[in-house]
Amino acid sequence: MALPFRFHARTPRARALAGLLTGVLFILSIAFAAGVTPQDALALLTAGNARFTEGKAIHPNCAKARITETAAGQQPFAVVLTCADSRVPPELIFDRGVGDLFVVRTAGNVIDLVVIGSIEYAVEHLHTPRVIVMGHTRCGAVTAAAEHGHTDGSIGAILECITPAVDETKKQIPKLTGDAFLDAAAEANARRQANELLRQSPLLADAARNGTVVVSCAMYDVRSGKVTMSAVPVVVPPAR
Ligand SMILES: [Zn+2]
Repeated sequence: MALPFRFHARTPRARALAGLLTGVLFILSIAFAAGVTPQDALALLTAGNARFTEGKAIHPNCAKARITETAAGQQPFAVVLTCADSRVPPELIFDRGVGDLFVVRTAGNVIDLVVIGSIEYAVEHLHTPRVIVMGHTRCGAVTAAAEHGHTDGSIGAILECITPAVDETKKQIPKLTGDAFLDAAAEANARRQANELLRQSPLLADAARNGTVVVSCAMYDVRSGKVTMSAVPVVVPPAR
């Protein structure tokens, strides 16, 4: 994984120095790639979102060289399961590029067997050390579930997955109304989906128990662009 450094130098001396620094950082990035911990992955995501929200995105790993670099294989440092909402594009909001994130998206960031299998693939075969289940504010899927919205076609299958989080939020925080309620329900839904992910996947639960992966939750605010990482730990089921 190449680090997000780019240098623009105008004089020959500055260009030589920039070349040297870029080379050193490239070597460091190769050494770094093999040892990304779950904590490193979280720090990379947090730093990327800070750049994004501050208007200082550097769009790392987006150049043509990165295509060549990743052609032989991928080593994404994080899985991001999030909503299909067009306002929540993971590579942009975390300021990352090609080969960095293993992204799985469904409306309402709900899980099913195919989603679980996709995440298992990343953790088991690509050795991705961090899984983030990220909900977002003003989520249409959560709103539809809360309002018992229309269930044309197969939309009902999505709402069914979200309804338990809506009910839980009503019970736990009965005073909340409007957007505050919906955002709390979206947060509860992300947490429930993350808990279900480990409950339904013995493979992921094993990896979480032995520390090769950390699953955590986050909320993205569509008004500010900010991602807030949850401090509430995802429940890791005991070994059977
Ligand atoms: Zn959504």
